[in-house]
Amino acid sequence: MPIRYINELLGLPELQLHSVVSIHETEVHLEASPVAYKQACPLCHSEEAVKRDGRNTPRKIRHVRIFGKKCFLHIPSVRLACSRCNIGFVWSYSCVGSKERYSRAFRLQTVNQALVSTAAHSARMQEAPASTVQRMHQEALPAESERLLQQAWHQAKEQTDLVLGIDDFAIKKGHTYNTGIHDLRGETMLDLLLGRKLDALRTYAEQHSEFLNLNPKAVVMDLAQAYHTWISECFPKAIRIADRFHVHGYVIESVQAVRKSVQSTLSPRAKGILKSHHRLLNPPADSLPEKSRTQLDQLLAFSPLLREVWEWKESFSRWYDYSPSFDVARLGFIRWCQQGKGIEHEAVQNDAELGRGNRELPSLSLDECDSRRTA
Ligand SMILES: [Zn+2]
Repeated sequence: MPIRYINELLGLPELQLHSVVSIHETEVHLEASPVAYKQACPLCHSEEAVKRDGRNTPRKIRHVRIFGKKCFLHIPSVRLACSRCNIGFVWSYSCVGSKERYSRAFRLQTVNQALVSTAAHSARMQEAPASTVQRMHQEALPAESERLLQQAWHQAKEQTDLVLGIDDFAIKKGHTYNTGIHDLRGETMLDLLLGRKLDALRTYAEQHSEFLNLNPKAVVMDLAQAYHTWISECFPKAIRIADRFHVHGYVIESVQAVRKSVQSTLSPRAKGILKSHHRLLNPPADSLPEKSRTQLDQLLAFSPLLREVWEWKESFSRWYDYSPSFDVARLGFIRWCQQGKGIEHEAVQNDAELGRGNRELPSLSLDECDSRRTA
């Protein structure tokens, strides 16, 4: 292949390829030099008084693969001098940073590989030291993260049916909680704010006008009062959705709380059986294999209260999955809350009370379930 085609293949217009120094099974070494003869002085920005002043040891630069082989570019380290400023400097290449041994194209490719997999994987693919790839990755992260963030906010602002998700999380469980703001349809995280109390949330909104400029159609969150108050202040028109994952979590917790108090009243044998199979109470009955169903029936026969709360949990999923319309779902929800209030256990009554106290919430979850159905 004529050298000028290889030159085009490399995609480095500032370089002129002279020769293929060597070509082995796994490596190709190419010799190149700058197309231009002079470079502007970094101080006076003019070429006028600049003269070439010899060369330092040539640089060996790792570049992106060519013909499936590792590619090294041997380029001169041209010394230049500006007589006007009375300084000396070396040629600066745009394809590679000063004093760096990897071309920008190679770094970009390596970092992109690492971003979609791992630095170790990228290092294997590029046949480069893992520590080097790790460093390139670390160096590229701040800019990459900034770019993704800009993109996420842009997407959220443009989104006509924006659905936000607000959720708390702790980096270490049990420690300080933070709040994540997500664009659920775009599947991006927009921001992280410290804390989850109303004061912290309000301060964030005051300081971030771009957040208040969003126009969410709905906001999904758990049942924490602070979130509901905050979101109703920021986006009064948005539908607030208590998401299923959280509500279902509360229901399961109640079932297990009842199970624990029932367990303490049973005979040692029954107690043991209930304890070791307590997880069978959580999943929907129709998702259990036959054998587990039989075991579950045995557990439920231990206590009418346990059976009652388990049935209440089952009817929650039924209500969520099978309500054919908004009106039926609204009615179903009221019945479900009544069913819960009829169960004589504090854990359940609290949940049922939650539904009653936050009158808005159930209708909101229903809106979501309605729109999912029509979608
Ligand atoms: Zn100068």
